[in-house]
Amino acid sequence: MTRIARIRATPVTVPLEAPLRHSNGAHWGRFVRTLVEVETDDGYVGLGEFGGGGETATAAVEGLIGLLRGHDVFRLEAMRFAVCNPTASLYNNRTQMHAALEFACLDIMGKKLGVPVAELIGGRVRDSVEFASYLFFRYADPKTGDGEVRTPEQLVAHARALKAEHGFASHKLKGGVFPPAHELACYRALAQAFPADPLRHDPNCAWSLADAIAFCRGIEGLNNHFIEDPVWGMPQLARLREIVRMPTATNTVVINFEQLAANVAQRAVDVILLDTTFWGGIRPCVKAAGICETFGLGVAVHSSGELGVQLASMLHMGAVVPNLGYSADAHYHHLVDDVIVGGKMRYVNGRIAVPTAPGLGVALDAEKVARYHELYKELGGYAYDRDPGRPGWYPLVPNADWADPGVSMTPSMR
Ligand SMILES: [Mg+2]
Repeated sequence: MTRIARIRATPVTVPLEAPLRHSNGAHWGRFVRTLVEVETDDGYVGLGEFGGGGETATAAVEGLIGLLRGHDVFRLEAMRFAVCNPTASLYNNRTQMHAALEFACLDIMGKKLGVPVAELIGGRVRDSVEFASYLFFRYADPKTGDGEVRTPEQLVAHARALKAEHGFASHKLKGGVFPPAHELACYRALAQAFPADPLRHDPNCAWSLADAIAFCRGIEGLNNHFIEDPVWGMPQLARLREIVRMPTATNTVVINFEQLAANVAQRAVDVILLDTTFWGGIRPCVKAAGICETFGLGVAVHSSGELGVQLASMLHMGAVVPNLGYSADAHYHHLVDDVIVGGKMRYVNGRIAVPTAPGLGVALDAEKVARYHELYKELGGYAYDRDPGRPGWYPLVPNADWADPGVSMTPSMR
């Protein structure tokens, strides 16, 4: 038995190259993440991570020691019910914290047994995972004035630079920021610049059904992977799927097993983007991938923003899922640094190697954690669902009040 003795949480802020815009607002030039360390009574330390941070997040995850002190890290199914029993979860929402604890327990199991996490969850079928470029519309970095992505020309130049540096052979564009016709022009510019590279677009459910139909008809015949979350909700996605001639995908409305069952009963989307945090851990994603295999649904790896610990969870999951049909997403290359020993993991030909050291295969760099914890304390959090360039604005669903692609600005990020 390897019993949980302590849980520590540390919020950190790591800068991005430039602020990333999305349909609800922006990442204001940085990611705030909470690093979780689970320590056992026999001296092992396992790592976890989840999004956001602050005193409440730290207290919430550290407070789970009251439920888990003495829990055997190998008993993961029991931990699922101890932390997020489905009916108790009507009163609390611990899925994302459970995910971080699950990463940490798997990390400890791997370290104790001397094997990588991938070997504990089915065994790898690939040694590296392919990633898409994950392009964003961006504000310029207020410090340097560099990095703006707003026009088709800027977008293509940004994609060319990322492809040259990292070797990406497919591209995902995060949209839902500008009027759909502008984003269509941007997408078509990518298709013209990279005819051999498959593309996908993700406006985060911001569009009306009419917007989505018009956009999809505008890209039919191009080299498309899928259209991701063009409209909100399974009924609308199911209706869109009857009309457009390309696969549909989601990371928003199929994020648990009940929703996966509903999508099997009435097909709304063809590709499920599995997120190791949203689904509550690496193992739920592997289970979901098995159900997708049975019912002929496609699978890919979703990114909800990550530092190296979370990225390791995505790599181990991506390593073992046989039916991974598309390149994975990561925000990772937009970061300027990481908190793991050795610095940022590297893309080689658009792929990242699955760590081979025992456990998750990553270790925290204490100096970096301290530095970025200080930066968190200095800057505090940011409103993910607000746009620093559009004070007072927030979108309806469907949205009709878009950012103006003719306006170049560099708003303050404080
Ligand atoms: Mg998405």
